[in-house]
Amino acid sequence: MIPLSVPNISGNEWKYIKECLDTNWVSSVGSYVGRFEKMLADFVGSKYAIATSNGTSALHVSLQLAGVNSSHCVIVPNITFIASVNAVKYTGASPIFMDIDESDWQIDLDLLERFLSRQTIVKNGACHLKENSKIIKAIMPVHVLGNVCDMDKLMTIADQYKLVVIEDSTESLGSYFKGKHTGTLGLMGNFSFNGNKIISTGGGGMIVTDDEKLAMQAKHITTQAKASPDEYYHDQVGYNYRLVNLLAAMGVAQMEQLPGFLIRKTEIYKRYISGLEKVKGIGFQKSEAAVKPNNWLFTITTNRKADLLKRLKENGVEARPLWVPMNKLPMFTDELFVSESDVSQKIYDHCVSLPCSTGIKDEEIDQVISLVQGLSHE
Ligand SMILES: *Cc1c(COP(=O)(O)O)cnc(C)c1O
Repeated sequence: MIPLSVPNISGNEWKYIKECLDTNWVSSVGSYVGRFEKMLADFVGSKYAIATSNGTSALHVSLQLAGVNSSHCVIVPNITFIASVNAVKYTGASPIFMDIDESDWQIDLDLLERFLSRQTIVKNGACHLKENSKIIKAIMPVHVLGNVCDMDKLMTIADQYKLVVIEDSTESLGSYFKGKHTGTLGLMGNFSFNGNKIISTGGGGMIVTDDEKLAMQAKHITTQAKASPDEYYHDQVGYNYRLVNLLAAMGVAQMEQLPGFLIRKTEIYKRYISGLEKVKGIGFQKSEAAVKPNNWLFTITTNRKADLLKRLKENGVEARPLWVPMNKLPMFTDELFVSESDVSQKIYDHCVSLPCSTGIKDEEIDQVISLVQGLSHE
């Protein structure tokens, strides 16, 4: 069996976790949490980092601290993992699903601009939907599959329409736009360390920001808003969203290996491209020139998605389709979907992600390549 994307645990994970067990520092207090935060902040170039129990909780807290509430709307791409939208819903806000770009599979910025100019009006420093005068408070770009849209353009639009930018950078650790790491371009960025991300702590997340006040609030609200070191005095409704020391220890060990993981991801990407670029009917996600992607999850387009998924499965290769477009999920069918030609459906209908764990062997990649080639020659 060749797995799709599994953790690579070949560094100091055992050593650091054992140290937590030996010293009894397993829970929410302990030195690894701070060390993990510092390493991640240094890596992405943000002033502050706050570790959370997972990426979804990081997104939830970021939106809440950005002031998003149940009277608001938040713009999200229509192709993303469900967690982005769930986080919006937890705040009580309504998502507005924006169709994606056919080339880079990120939020379609031209469509976004047309939508905002035609269907909204900015007054009193807020962007209102003309239809019901609800405020669109924020936009959440999701750096889908580690790729990045034109963030200069997105930031300019957001500025013009008074939208707070909260980045879902969970898939893009190691991705850059014009030399700046994803997650550091908006007000707050969010990372995930679940089982299939580029580094993993089993489950875990991180909020990054340059804003000291937001960073302090994030730490406060993720630790049950306990306001006194000596007493159980809490000054607001908080959450139990902190990452535990045991998992932060794993995070530190994984961060030590991140540069190597990124090199391997690029090698995997290049090997797939050279094996598949001449194959009829196969296409790839494109990146803007200003983007340096992390190549997190190698994904192709094919006219024979169902056949390919079946063929790979029969041969012990784990592959998967892209996420079902958000507007097609039963709980979101009443939400606004902004689209002119439903690119989301088209991309969903054609995409297949192929195995690309950092521990994959070159021979295994070649095996997958020949299965894809074989099918296209039939
Ligand atoms: C992984 C991921 C998240 C966060 O997931 P968690 O499992 O909660 O860490 C959020 N958004 C996207 C797009 C993701 O891929």
